Amino acid sequence: MPLQMAPRRRGKPPKHFADLTPAERVASVEAMGEKSFRAKQLATHYFTHYTSDPEQMTDLPSATREAMATTMFPSLIRPTRTLEADGGTTVKTLWHLFDDAKVESVLMRYPNRTTLCVSSQAGCGMACPFCATGQLGLTRNLSTAEILEQVRAAFRTLAAGEIPGGPTRLNNLVFMGMGEPLANPRAVIETVRTLVAPQPEGFGMSARNITVSTVGLVPAMLKLADLGIPVTLALSLHAPDDDLRSELVPINTRWSVDEALDAARHYFEVTGRRVSIEYALIKDMNDHGWRADLLGEKLNARGRGWVHVNPIPLNPTPGSIWTASERAVEDEFVARLRGHGIPTTIRDTRGSDIDGACGQLAAEEDDE
Ligand code: SAH
Repeated sequence: MPLQMAPRRRGKPPKHFADLTPAERVASVEAMGEKSFRAKQLATHYFTHYTSDPEQMTDLPSATREAMATTMFPSLIRPTRTLEADGGTTVKTLWHLFDDAKVESVLMRYPNRTTLCVSSQAGCGMACPFCATGQLGLTRNLSTAEILEQVRAAFRTLAAGEIPGGPTRLNNLVFMGMGEPLANPRAVIETVRTLVAPQPEGFGMSARNITVSTVGLVPAMLKLADLGIPVTLALSLHAPDDDLRSELVPINTRWSVDEALDAARHYFEVTGRRVSIEYALIKDMNDHGWRADLLGEKLNARGRGWVHVNPIPLNPTPGSIWTASERAVEDEFVARLRGHGIPTTIRDTRGSDIDGACGQLAAEEDDE
């Protein structure tokens, strides 16, 4: 797969209430000839009650309710299939977008928290050979509202008690679905702003519970540091040496391991947020003891206490010859990193039986 930094030109999804800033929401309500306070009512329906259904907006005048809702909340994403695992506590949803582009999101409920994994692009241009999404190429960037609609759906599902365990809230959000979030920085940053804005201006999430995961687009990492919203940054490293990383994460030919790590360290310095290093353990590819040592050294060379490593056993993807490392090799890799004083935790991987785990999202036509 060739690297693709920019999507092919496609039509834009319709503008949606969730694309707008609070001031723009007021302006567009007024442009419809409505009173400005209607914007707050609409925001409350959307961000507090998670609904865009005019039937439920009984505090709006019945004459204009329908028109307001259909103008402000055009249908952007339509669920066409859900798959469940873990007794219904892991749910993968396939969404069709207005132009028939497809993305997936995965909702995971744990005993004491809930996490949504969202897509920020249809497909991905980063071409990592071990990732199913990377094999699709990039279709297009999602709009802010297309991302936020995935989030609203998760809040609504959880609030409605549709996931076993009783009604609850969404606690965590990870940009680890389809796409490279920092290749779609404008929409992703706007999404983050709205995620953390207090209800009813936004979803009132905590920045530290939002993780932006990147292959290492250095300029965008530096910009994210200056955003002033201390989300958690995850860097998908997968190898500590340029030779191998350029094969596994092709963008490494543009920004090297050292440059990506420097940007990650900078992120920590500016935000005070400990950075995560993602490392898919691939049998006989990147799981050698010396690579764990080299990674430990490179991280420590940039200071202590600023980073932790999340190794994850490779999830299988169609057509790939690679497999996960042996358990003993994984244990040794973790032990070596810890030996360097690096906090290291094997990432829990959910949903691999429904192709919903890291690197398995492909939104295939024939899945339907
Ligand atoms: N493009 C961003 C966001 C995707 S996050 C990024 O790469 O960071 C998905 C995470 O799962 C990334 O860390 C990615 O490298 C990892 N991943 C991809 N394919 C995988 C696979 N087959 N097994 C395990 N992890 C994988």
